[in-house]
Amino acid sequence: MTRKPPINRNDEIVLCIDSMGSEGQGVGRYEGMAVFVPFALPGEVIKAHIIKVTSSYAVGKLVDIIKHSTDRVVADCPYFTKCGGCMLRHMSYAAQLEYKRRQVADAMERIGGFTGLEVKPTVGMNNPQRYRNKGAFPLASCGGAIYPGLFVPRSHRIIPITDCLIQNENTMRAVNAVREWANANGISAYDEKTQKGILRHIVVRSTTGGTMAVVVTNGELPQKEKLIDMLKAAVPDLQSIIHNINDRDTNVIMGDINKTIWGSAYTLERLCKLDFSVSAESFLQVNTEQACKLYDIAIDSLEIKPTELAVDLYCGIGTITLMLAKKSAKAIGIEIVDSAIHDAAENAVRNGLSNVEFICATAESALPKLVASGIRIDALSLDPPRKGVDIKALEAIIQSGVQRITYVSCNPATLARDCKILCSAGYEIRMIQPVDMFPMTAHVETIVLLQRENL
Ligand code: SAH
Repeated sequence: MTRKPPINRNDEIVLCIDSMGSEGQGVGRYEGMAVFVPFALPGEVIKAHIIKVTSSYAVGKLVDIIKHSTDRVVADCPYFTKCGGCMLRHMSYAAQLEYKRRQVADAMERIGGFTGLEVKPTVGMNNPQRYRNKGAFPLASCGGAIYPGLFVPRSHRIIPITDCLIQNENTMRAVNAVREWANANGISAYDEKTQKGILRHIVVRSTTGGTMAVVVTNGELPQKEKLIDMLKAAVPDLQSIIHNINDRDTNVIMGDINKTIWGSAYTLERLCKLDFSVSAESFLQVNTEQACKLYDIAIDSLEIKPTELAVDLYCGIGTITLMLAKKSAKAIGIEIVDSAIHDAAENAVRNGLSNVEFICATAESALPKLVASGIRIDALSLDPPRKGVDIKALEAIIQSGVQRITYVSCNPATLARDCKILCSAGYEIRMIQPVDMFPMTAHVETIVLLQRENL
């Protein structure tokens, strides 16, 4: 028999918050039921309006804070709580870093079954603002004008913005220039429902080499010369303007066609003393300063020797592969996206590295073949997407006998799951280091060093 929940929708309750959930929400217990309240902090006593009740948990909206946490700070962004981007802007930065460390420790314990593991303090930023090198803004029309904005969480509603405190200033200059161009020239915003209208998204990359503005439309790009002039006048380090065409009924931001309408087809990013060309659709870690720290820690922990062979699974545009190549006899990068592998090969040439090989395939198909060929892998880097490493790739890793693995993860849950599998096959965790790639948000990136002795 299912028990009747102790609370109902629209109830207003007083709640003591004692922990935080994986999305940065405060969590308290009401007659045994977990209640998630965004923007409430541990140690606080709050009043919440219940907006959702399920058989196992409830969600409340913060209406009043009766007792404040000493970790609470005044959020400095007018869009905070509305746009869904920064879930932790009400929390001191030191407390955010500790929250992320705890998230990793909890996942390792709860999902991985590990006890007594040390999780190092999260590596943070000196100035955790304006750190993103990429922004993507949908557009909407209102009262005859068009504005860029950000999606309200779990909805298709857009709130208009003129600044975003985690974005680079040049990104915002480019976004506002496109808005002014659209409004001065009567360019309409694309409407998802009717599939009518022109301008769909503004995507901007602001890297060490300059700013790339990508204007995504449903088809044609009217008043192109005026757009170029306005962007050139507004963005001091403009490097590239790309027109991307996306005429599909989809919520994927970019379409397949990219036309360089001004400047170069790519921009350059400098990471750990190497240059990478970044095209409109390439994956690049969004926080350059922290990416350098992440890569340095991950690669140093592998202690690569000049005679060794290293493999980099999920290599993207070859960032980690090239850093491994600098220290080893040879590095092999494996990645599923064709254009990323193309960029990776060009990046090797750009940096004068010839001891690299790139394979365009899934990790789970390429690694078993590599291992079956009898190649000796001395060190391995893993940097998978949120869903973690496929079981076939894990089995190939175990079979390969590789002794040192550095696992870079953006999802503590799948990291813990995969570490459990690797450790049950003889690996031991030697280091767990969270790195804050996304200040003000609840996301955490983690490096785990795994080793196994000769079996
Ligand atoms: N190491 C890179 C990219 C990491 S992001 C960097 O630091 O920049 C994860 C990458 O894994 C993406 O480039 C994605 O395209 C790739 N990917 C996703 N699934 C994959 C799979 N099954 N096999 C190989 N690569 C995959």
